[in-house]
Amino acid sequence: MNKKVTVRKCTAYNADEIYNIISDIYKTSGGPDPANKKVLVKPNILSENDPSKCVSTHPAVVDAMIRYLQSRGATVFVGDSPAVHTSKFRGDKCGIHQVCEKTGATWVNFLEDPTEKKINGRSIRIASITDSVDLIISLPKFKNHELMYFTGAIKNTYGLIPGFTKALQHGIYNDRNSFGRFLIDLTETITPHYFLMDAIMGMEGQGPGTKGKPVQVGLLLGSTNPLALDITASRIAGYNPLLLPTNKIALERKKWLGSEAEIEYDGPQLNTIIKHDFQRIPATASRNSALKFLMGRLSFLRKLEKRPVFLRESCTACHKCIKICPAEAIKQSPSDSRHIVLTDSKCIRCFCCAEACQDDAIDVRVKLFGV
Ligand code: SF4
Ligand code: SF4
Repeated sequence: MNKKVTVRKCTAYNADEIYNIISDIYKTSGGPDPANKKVLVKPNILSENDPSKCVSTHPAVVDAMIRYLQSRGATVFVGDSPAVHTSKFRGDKCGIHQVCEKTGATWVNFLEDPTEKKINGRSIRIASITDSVDLIISLPKFKNHELMYFTGAIKNTYGLIPGFTKALQHGIYNDRNSFGRFLIDLTETITPHYFLMDAIMGMEGQGPGTKGKPVQVGLLLGSTNPLALDITASRIAGYNPLLLPTNKIALERKKWLGSEAEIEYDGPQLNTIIKHDFQRIPATASRNSALKFLMGRLSFLRKLEKRPVFLRESCTACHKCIKICPAEAIKQSPSDSRHIVLTDSKCIRCFCCAEACQDDAIDVRVKLFGV
């Protein structure tokens, strides 16, 4: 497996400048030849939000990637599937629909006629276009993730699972390590052929939803190797890459790399681009079965964990959080549609609700008493 990662500086969302940088990154890192191929471009569209929120891959990056692939003779399709959305979703608010119209790339609805793949002996719905294209190009976003610490190339494959089926996996793989193993299994089953990470603006703090804070990182990263890319990106964010369960589990399996030292890095000196002041997710123990057992016995220990805190004053009563919760741990108060009530004993701390909320109405934090 190719172990190259190319990193280039890029400080603005100027699609023409990004196009030139992508041309360089793609060639330098050994991107596959797209000539006469059908190619699926898979951005990270976590939810419908303005690009300035940095919740999704920026449309200028998607635009430049599509045009680069088209210039090399590819027929391009674009798709993603936020966990809570209707069959009419096409990425209007995040600007992806406009990019498709401008470039002539075809938008694909992942909810339509999904196929099934065996992952870990279980049948899971996957966007059927993955079977009909020659190449998949994944465009992850440089972002924090409350559950997995950081979301990157390996996590972006999760979006190939359409709609709410995604959230259901959190109910099955309900702690950080088991969910990490599932993400590796999934990416081993369907490995995109190339990864281009949008790190021009990243997200620090309470990512990956709207509660996170946009921050300038000023980089684009490319690789055919998801693990090499994630290790490099998480190091640039100031994490110990082994803190991320996906990096640790993939290295243990020696699937894409045997060690970090094998990465063939091409870019600015790493120590000059590491964001030491990046607001990282603090390390906490995974809620493995022993800890879950203990917490079941000592319920006050759960109060010391971060949990979703629902902010009535910002809530618009859309109830996306209720629809997405795989544990049925939240409901609307009978007397007030903007008052969302959590049954804490049911909550598995997957934070899908915070990802789904588009109104900054869910904090993820420790809440001991009152607010
Ligand atoms: S908390 Fe957010 S997702 Fe839940 S109902 Fe309110 S606005 Fe909607
Ligand atoms: S309330 Fe939120 S964090 Fe808890 S299980 Fe439901 S979606 Fe996950």
